[in-house]
Amino acid sequence: MTRPVRTRYAPSPTGDPHIGNIRTALFAWALARANNGSFLVRIEDTDQKRLVDNSVERILESLRWLKLHWDEGPDLGGPHAPYRQSERLHLYQDAATRLLEAGRAYRCFCTSERLDDLRARQAAAKQPPGYDGHCRSVPPEEASKRAESEPSVVRFRMSDVGATTFDDAIRGAVTFENALQDDFVALKSDGYPTYHLAAILDDHLMEISHVIRGEEWLSSAPKHLQLMEALGIEPPVYAHLPVVHGPDHKKLSKRTGDTAALEYRDKGYLPDAMVNFLALLGWSLDDKTTIIPPDVFATEFTIERVVPNPAIFDIERLNYLNGQYIRGLDDAEWERIVIEWCEKDLPADIARPLDESLLRQAAPLLKERVGRLDEIAGLAHFLFTYEALPYDASLLVERAGGDQGTAVRILDAALLALDDLGDDQWDRDQVEAAIRGLQDTLELKLRKFISVLYVAEMGSPQGIPLFDSLVLLGRERSIQRLRTARQRLD
Ligand code: GLU
Repeated sequence: MTRPVRTRYAPSPTGDPHIGNIRTALFAWALARANNGSFLVRIEDTDQKRLVDNSVERILESLRWLKLHWDEGPDLGGPHAPYRQSERLHLYQDAATRLLEAGRAYRCFCTSERLDDLRARQAAAKQPPGYDGHCRSVPPEEASKRAESEPSVVRFRMSDVGATTFDDAIRGAVTFENALQDDFVALKSDGYPTYHLAAILDDHLMEISHVIRGEEWLSSAPKHLQLMEALGIEPPVYAHLPVVHGPDHKKLSKRTGDTAALEYRDKGYLPDAMVNFLALLGWSLDDKTTIIPPDVFATEFTIERVVPNPAIFDIERLNYLNGQYIRGLDDAEWERIVIEWCEKDLPADIARPLDESLLRQAAPLLKERVGRLDEIAGLAHFLFTYEALPYDASLLVERAGGDQGTAVRILDAALLALDDLGDDQWDRDQVEAAIRGLQDTLELKLRKFISVLYVAEMGSPQGIPLFDSLVLLGRERSIQRLRTARQRLD
């Protein structure tokens, strides 16, 4: 019988999880979902010096935002609780004792000064850094005695002959020469385990079938395999995900998009667009489909379609996907989002609560033009003021091809045509007909003069569709804004 699929996301609470880290969570989640398995969250808080307050909450919030629901975790509990490593120390300490007793690990008393000095000597001699085995030969009884009064760590004794090979589910067979591996610390002097010991033990105890993690851990795999062998643990399937690079093909940096996942939420990316985008960082459905909604991803995901070469983080693709997902939202959901972002982002001098019926009417117009949700308020603002938003009068001239006379003609003609419409004629069709009619009067194509009208009405040469906007503004305000624009050119 094959094992049930159980995957985990094992973040260290050292700050807000970044986008590459969340991609790892997403792939682990998808593998569990695609196989009716379980996905769990385990908090790896064994490096006490690097803990950041509030980080666990931010990690869980990032997952919740992306709707990556977990089945077991620090907040939910589960059959393998606790899910925080700092609450499981005795398990790692017991394992370390077993390793000591079996002679697979030894106590090391080297001071940090000695280790620094060793590293410096190795660097000077152009040798790879690594522990030199200094304490390997301390007899165990002497070591136990010394450990009562001297600080010590438990170091794992790596084999120094032969090679360690394993089958990575993404990369195929990977081999490491054992002679190049050094004895690593499994348990620190403060009684906390290192990542190596804690992660492999918990993956075993939590019955993880597939360890999906970032490529930066690939070089640690031989440590983990030997450690598992020493502890009599059957290895899970390992899949090391490709690194994420920026469009410059270098490691992702803050500038190229490596920021906290929640920053993307705050900038107005939709969770489904983000999941779709992250899914394509290393995986593809069929080499051509770009729109892959989360539920499809969670059904179709297979490790076999993850490639080992670096994935490129292309913000343009994310922007494109976000626009697509925005346009795919149903009207009620979109209206809710429009109201929420306007309440949040419109300036404080606009009275709250906002006129929701106006926003509901504007919502379909906004839907066509918005790429990110943080653009909504900027595009809707002009609907909430009496005059257009502040603009430089020279913009009217600039949009009229740089000719003041043309700008004046455009505004005069528009005023005349629109003033002709009575209150009862102020609807989309008649407003549009009046403005299109200006093409003949002005002997100019619509696109040559429409942005002058945009500036006059909104304060910006672009915005949501003009004809509908004028209907929303109403006759009085629309005409007033043209008058103001016209006066500013005197
Ligand atoms: N705590 C490790 C990290 O945050 C987990 C790596 C793993 O998935 O095993 O990078």
